[in-house]
Amino acid sequence: MKILKIQTLRGPNYWSIRRQKLVVMRLDLEELADKPSDVIPNFYQGLIAVLPSLVEHQCSPGCRGGFLMRVQEGTMMGHIIEHVALELQDLAGMPVGFGRTRETSTPGTYQVVIEYFNEAAGRYAARAAVRLCQSIVETGSYPPEELAQDLKDLQELWAEASLGPSTEALVKEADRRGVPWVALSARSMIQFGNGVYQRRMQATQSDRTSILGIELACDKEGTKTILREAGIPVPRGTLIHYLDDLKTAIDDVGGFPIVIKPLDGNHGRGITIDINSWELAEEAYDAASGASKSRSVIVERYYQGRDHRVLVVNDKVVAVAERVPAHVVGDGHTSIAELIEQTNRDPRRGEGHDNVLTKIEMDRTSWQLLERHGYTLETVLPAGTVCYLRATANLSTGGIAVDRTDDIHPENIWLAQRVAKVIGLDIAGIDIVTPDISQPLRDVGGVIVEVNAAPGFRMHLSPSQGIPRNVAEPVLDMLFPSGTPSRIPIIAITGTNGKTTTSRLIAHIFKQTKRVVGYTTTDGIYINDFLVEKGDNTGPQSAQVILNDPTVEVAVLESARGGILRSGLAFESCDVGVVLNVSADHLGLGDIETLDDMARLKSVVAETVLPNGYAVLNADDPLVAAMANRVHGQVTYFAMEPENELIRLHTQRGGLAAIYENGYLSILKGDWTLRIEQAVNVPLTLGGRAPFMIANALAASLAAFAQGVRIEDIRAALTTFEPSVGQTPGRMNLFDLGGYHALIDYAHNPASYAALGSFVRNWPGERIGVVGGPGDRRDEDFVTLGQLTAQIFDRVIVKEDDDTRGRPRGDAARFINLGIQQIGIVGRCETILDETTAIQTALNTATPGSLVVILPETVSRAIALIEQRQPQSPSTLAA
Ligand code: ATP
Ligand code: ATP
Ligand code: MG
Ligand code: MG
Repeated sequence: MKILKIQTLRGPNYWSIRRQKLVVMRLDLEELADKPSDVIPNFYQGLIAVLPSLVEHQCSPGCRGGFLMRVQEGTMMGHIIEHVALELQDLAGMPVGFGRTRETSTPGTYQVVIEYFNEAAGRYAARAAVRLCQSIVETGSYPPEELAQDLKDLQELWAEASLGPSTEALVKEADRRGVPWVALSARSMIQFGNGVYQRRMQATQSDRTSILGIELACDKEGTKTILREAGIPVPRGTLIHYLDDLKTAIDDVGGFPIVIKPLDGNHGRGITIDINSWELAEEAYDAASGASKSRSVIVERYYQGRDHRVLVVNDKVVAVAERVPAHVVGDGHTSIAELIEQTNRDPRRGEGHDNVLTKIEMDRTSWQLLERHGYTLETVLPAGTVCYLRATANLSTGGIAVDRTDDIHPENIWLAQRVAKVIGLDIAGIDIVTPDISQPLRDVGGVIVEVNAAPGFRMHLSPSQGIPRNVAEPVLDMLFPSGTPSRIPIIAITGTNGKTTTSRLIAHIFKQTKRVVGYTTTDGIYINDFLVEKGDNTGPQSAQVILNDPTVEVAVLESARGGILRSGLAFESCDVGVVLNVSADHLGLGDIETLDDMARLKSVVAETVLPNGYAVLNADDPLVAAMANRVHGQVTYFAMEPENELIRLHTQRGGLAAIYENGYLSILKGDWTLRIEQAVNVPLTLGGRAPFMIANALAASLAAFAQGVRIEDIRAALTTFEPSVGQTPGRMNLFDLGGYHALIDYAHNPASYAALGSFVRNWPGERIGVVGGPGDRRDEDFVTLGQLTAQIFDRVIVKEDDDTRGRPRGDAARFINLGIQQIGIVGRCETILDETTAIQTALNTATPGSLVVILPETVSRAIALIEQRQPQSPSTLAA
């Protein structure tokens, strides 16, 4: 077997709209191509020995053991690999369930589609599944240590990419509410929502967490000062920089017991609490000074009590946890060392912040604490005796958390909320030491020891005891208060022809509404009239540029076949999905062989339309009209004929449509006709003579109307949108060269040739064509092009692209000429392979009143050649 290609899909795609995280592996079965599993000796036995849990896979029989039945009866290896890849991920703790396998048009080559939980792990699982099956075929087995290693690798890949518990909780909550999110490429930032409505978080710090608030919270002394002045109970303490000042400081705070800690520390680093002797104080001073960047040390009175973390989000207390320092409890026969080991065996305990809890490790304080009680690691504690191994209760040093949200006294709630406000934090973790959180601090001598910016959510999300609290909920409520949007409208456009033109026109319409429009096309990425990036930008990455842009208010996204096939759409859903047409182009690429395959691929755009959104479908194109069945949103149609049956039925039922009637582009809203504009006044339609442009304009108008744009704005846009080099380079750009005209157009498949022909055939003078097509199309496509060419032009020059996309030079031209000959041509036909020479020859020999139609490889080069001849502007069309 040989893996030919592995692709990773990240959005709605050909295989599924809902299952967006898929690996697509193109697999050549080679020697196994004609060997179903039942004829491979010992394969079934080998497989169930290695992966007995495959019995859970139901597959087509729909019952437990169903898949294994298929293996026993005989199924192809691609299908088995699909199930194995899913099972490997399951075994590694990543539950996935979706898979598809289908043979391509190349016999023995399969597309194996498997869902992934984590991208890298998914790709790994696909490869590992091939390896595993190959080994069973060859040796009857797969070594257990290999399998163990695979699972370990899978888990590591997953862990590497994991977001951390707080962020994980936030994105889950976002998913729950349908708020799109994306991890940005720098500084572990997550973007929630998109466009102008987006908000960002970095762990639990929001884009509106005040920098002054953060700085104040990080300055423990400053925090205490501000809080004390506000009448909030804080520990008595002073700040020192030299050991010489320690003695006076201790006296100042009222003598032992004291706490010594670095001014700017966190996670309990460098802190010693409950210090009762000068000797310990000196040692603690060194530890604190060493952990402080500024060598500044806080000396504080020690307050007896339990340690609490109060989480305030958006001015409200949302959770309270009591944190208990790392400890073990004796049982009368086990040593402290063994108790620690037992505790650390808890699967919830991991390293650092990775897991729900953290493993206990011995450090300086641990030894001190043991020493204080006269214990060693070998000591066997009497049953029930608690031995603390840390003085501070931070989870990251092995502490545990107990939920106390329902226990906190209302006065303490009020106090904590006030503290967050005084410090100036939208999300604050307030550390309170008090003997009893259910009593007012003032009554029981509790204090606020610290305020944390960016507090971890772990202890609230998964406390060791008590009720888990969904603290991500109030954060998302804060980011997107109810009634405010999180996403900008997305208008997605697909189809075989006219995508760029229609996208640009839709963008132009939305610009009339004074909104900032971001749009992507084959020419580039634009925001309003400014170019962000040049080049083919119809894939998901380009769409993401627009969706991530904080200035964009409306996104108009040309969504071409290639991008959907390669990685799926960049958005989970859209507000308007436009499908212009489906015709023969790009067939045979990416395992899309038939028009039906292609229609299915393009319908992805229509299927992602939100329930309250609109699919804009071409009623004149049966393949497009049929997509209505798969749309979850509302359906609207456009058509060139008012008599179109589908439109009639649709509007009778009160539906929305756009049609061309009596020379007008009009919207039909149930019984009512809303005329937008006469085609002759819409420059894009070349005075109403380019029917396909009328269709594009109808689709664009309908898309905008469905989004609530007023007819006046649509009209203003249609009358000012010129098929000029400036607004739509390469799409029906007509130049008046004095005495004759030249037209540059990008038509490059049979349907667009035919469309172009519908305009050109009406030309009164001689019609001269300079034609060719991209080399990666099929031979028969070139023949068809030739045939159509012969039906459109009086005279033809056949040329080729500089980039023949793998074809021998002259090959494409040969097939085009073949097509031309099949029809027979009036006038001359010659072949000039070099595009520039071909264009120059055509222009030099143009007769008065003629039209030279150029279908260039490079639009800008063709335009430059024309510009040299100083066309008259604007290019007026003879009436
Ligand atoms: P983190 O940021 O992870 O909460 P930190 O390193 O910033 O920890 P503090 O919050 O100042 O340090 O202190 C850590 C813990 O030490 C407190 O939660 C509390 O349990 C204890 N502690 C600190 N100061 C005092 C004090 N004056 N009296 C009693 N206990 C204290
Ligand atoms: P690409 O696949 O290259 O991105 P596209 O779908 O974006 O193409 P446009 O660039 O808008 O399409 O138009 C390319 C050419 O297709 C036009 O110049 C014209 O010849 C033809 N065309 C445009 N609209 C239609 C249509 N609705 N039907 C058929 N042909 C069309
Ligand atoms: Mg703290
Ligand atoms: Mg395009």
